[in-house]
Amino acid sequence: MATFALALHGGAGDLARYRGSGRLEEAEIFMATLLEAMAGRLRSGTSALDVAMISVEAMEDSGLFHAGRGSSPTSNGLIEMDASIMHGRDRKAGAIAVARTLKNPIRVARYVMEHTPNVFLAGQEVDDLASAAGSDVVGKDYFIPCDDVGAWLPSSGTVGAVILDSYGDIVAATSTGGTLRKRAGRIGDTPVIGAGTYADNNYGGISCTGVGEYFLRTSAASRVISRIEHLGEDPNAAAEGIMNEITTMGGHGGMIVVDKAGRVAMPFNTSGMYRASIDAMGTRIVASSDVK
Ligand code: ASP
Repeated sequence: MATFALALHGGAGDLARYRGSGRLEEAEIFMATLLEAMAGRLRSGTSALDVAMISVEAMEDSGLFHAGRGSSPTSNGLIEMDASIMHGRDRKAGAIAVARTLKNPIRVARYVMEHTPNVFLAGQEVDDLASAAGSDVVGKDYFIPCDDVGAWLPSSGTVGAVILDSYGDIVAATSTGGTLRKRAGRIGDTPVIGAGTYADNNYGGISCTGVGEYFLRTSAASRVISRIEHLGEDPNAAAEGIMNEITTMGGHGGMIVVDKAGRVAMPFNTSGMYRASIDAMGTRIVASSDVK
C-alpha cells in the first residue's frame, strides 16, 4: 500500500475526434511517464507542494495541453493564462489571471501564495512577478497557437494535479490557457479558489477542467469537498453529485479528486479527459477517452 496518492489531468473535452490521429496515445504516454516520475518523487519524500508544481509545470511545458506552451490566443490575438494552487494544511492559496508572458503560470501562483498576503492577482503585475517567482518570460513565438495545429488540440485542455503526500498534506494546482478562442479578458474557473481548485487536508483536494462558467456557477471545487465533509461521501459520489448538476445545467468538463484516505475519483461528461492516477492502494489509471 502506497503512503501517497496522486491524480493528474490534461483537460476534458471532445477528445473522441482525435481517435486514430495518434494524439491520444502521445498524451497518454506523456501522462504515464509523468505519473511514474511524480510517484518516485513522492516515494522519496518530496512534498505534495513541490510535486504539484513540478507536475503542472511539466504539463505546461509539454505543449500537449491547452496550458502554458499549448495556450492559444484570445479574440484579441493575445495569450491570457490563469492558474491557481492551494495547500490543504492551512488552506493558503495563490492565484493569477490574464498572464501573457509567463512560461510557467503555476510558479507565479505559488509565489503569490507563499510570498504575498494576497490570494488572487491579475493584470500586468502578474507578468512582472516572473523573475521574483523564478518563471521565465516568453514571447509570442514560444506558444504553439492551437489554430496552427487545428484538431491536434482538445477543445479545452487545462492541466491539473492533486497530490496527497506521505506527511498527510494535500495540494491542488490548476493551470490553463482558458477555453479555446475565448473572449479577451474572460476569466474562467481555473484561478478561482473554490471553483476550479480547492484543498483541505481534513477532507481532500480537487482540480477541475471544462467550460469554466459552469464550474464558477456551481462553486464546483469547494462543493465537492463540502460533500465529503458534510455528507461523508467518498470522492466518487461527491464528484458525481456536482458533475450531475453541471450536466443538468448544460455544462461540460471533468474533475480529479483525491481524499485524505488516498481514494481517487476522475469523473467527466465529455468524450474524454486526459488523466492519470495512483491511489493509496497503488491502483494505476492512465487514460484519455471513453472508459471512466
Ligand atoms: N476550465 C478552463 C476555463 O474555463 C478551461 C479548461 O478546463 O479547459 O478557463
